[in-house]
Amino acid sequence: MDLPSDFVSKQFTEYYKRDSSHLQAPSNIESREFGFLISNRTIMIRHKKFKTRNDLRSFFLEAIPSDAYYSSAYYENPEAEMGEKGWVGADLIFDIDADHILTPCGKVHDIWACCSCGFAGRGRSPQKCPVCSEAKFDVETWMCEECLESAKKETFKLVDMLMKDFGFQKSEIKLFFSGNRGYHVHIENEQVHPLDSTIRKEIVDYVIGLGFQESLHRIIEGDKLILEGNSGDAGWKPRITKGTIDFLTKATKADGSMMELGKNAVDHIVNNRKTLLDNIESYRWLKIKGVGVKNWRKIIQKVAEIQSAKVDTVVTTDVHRLIRLPGSLHGKTGLLKFESTINGLDHFDPLNEAVAFRKGDVSVDIIRSPKFRIGNESYGPFNNSRNILLPTAAALFLACKGAVQAVKPNV
Ligand SMILES: [Zn+2]
Ligand SMILES: [Zn+2]
Repeated sequence: MDLPSDFVSKQFTEYYKRDSSHLQAPSNIESREFGFLISNRTIMIRHKKFKTRNDLRSFFLEAIPSDAYYSSAYYENPEAEMGEKGWVGADLIFDIDADHILTPCGKVHDIWACCSCGFAGRGRSPQKCPVCSEAKFDVETWMCEECLESAKKETFKLVDMLMKDFGFQKSEIKLFFSGNRGYHVHIENEQVHPLDSTIRKEIVDYVIGLGFQESLHRIIEGDKLILEGNSGDAGWKPRITKGTIDFLTKATKADGSMMELGKNAVDHIVNNRKTLLDNIESYRWLKIKGVGVKNWRKIIQKVAEIQSAKVDTVVTTDVHRLIRLPGSLHGKTGLLKFESTINGLDHFDPLNEAVAFRKGDVSVDIIRSPKFRIGNESYGPFNNSRNILLPTAAALFLACKGAVQAVKPNV
C-alpha cells in the first residue's frame, strides 16, 4: 500500500523519465527566472536559471517538481535577488480561472469550512464565517465541464479583444489550458515587453470593462438608443450592439425580473422582439420609448458585464509574475498545461488533451469527490469509497486533489 503522496511522486517521476516531449522551454530561456514546487508542493525553489532546454529537462529528471514556473519577465541576471535582477521587459499574460467566474456549478462541487469553528458550506466561501466571524477557511474546489466551458468562453472573448481592439496577430497569441480550472493567454511581442504595471492595468481594465459607462460611448442620445457597429468591428460599442442583439433575442420575463426591469419594459421587449431586432438590423438605432431610459441603462450595463472578459487582474499587472511552464504537470490535478490553437479552441477538450497518463489501473480508497471526467469516462461521485479501480490518470487526479486515503497495487 502506498501513501497518496508517494503514488503522486512515483507517477510524476515515471512521466518525466518516459516522456518530456511536451515540456516547452520559453523563448529567451537564459533571461528567465524559474521556480519550482518540490516534495509534494511543500518546498518552493526560486531564482533558478537554465541555458538550454536540455538543462531544464535534466533539472526536471533530478528534482521531479510537482509544479514548475517561469517568469513572464526577462532579466539581465535571473538568478539574482529580486531587486538585483535587472528587469528588461515582460510578456503580456492573462489568466482566466473558474475562481473568477461565478458559475452555478461551484455550489454543487466546491466546499468551504471555517478554520476556527468548522462551520461549512457549499460554493464560494463568505467574507466572514457566519457563526464565529473569523475569516480563514479551508477551501476545496473542483472543476467540471461547466466551469471549463465558462473559462473557455471568457478566453474567446479575451482573444477577440486582443486581436480586434489591440491589433495583436494570431501568431503572437498563445493559448494554454492551465492544467486546472482555466486558461492562460501569453503574448510575446516586442511592443509589450517594456509596458509597466500601470499600462498593463489599463489593458486589464479595458478587457474586464471596468468603469464602463454608456454615456461615454454615447449609446443613449436624446430619445434614441444608438447601436452602431457590427460584430467584426473593434471597440466596446460594436460589442454592446452584439450583446444587445443577443439579449433581445433571448430575453425572458425571468431575465427581466432578475435585472430588476419594470414589468412594462419586459412586456415590450418580449412582445415586440422581432420588430426591435429588425430595427437594429436596418438602422442601428432604436426608439427608447417602450423600454425607457432607466431600463435601457440597466440592460446596457448588464450587456457590458456579459461581454467583458473575466481575467485575474493581478496576474496581468504583475511584471515579475511566475507562470506555469507549458507542458509541465499540474501538482493539483496531474494534468498538463497544454497548448491549444486559437482556431482549435472551440473543439479543444482539456480533459482529454491534457491527460498525461494513458495506461494502467490503480485501486484507491477515496475520501470524497464529486463526479468528474478524465478522458472520455466519468467517475464518481465517491464518499468513503474503498477499493475503487480507476485508470491511473483518474486516480492521480484524485490523489493530487488530496481526496485519496490509500493507493493499492493492482493485483
Ligand atoms: Zn467559524
Ligand atoms: Zn464546475
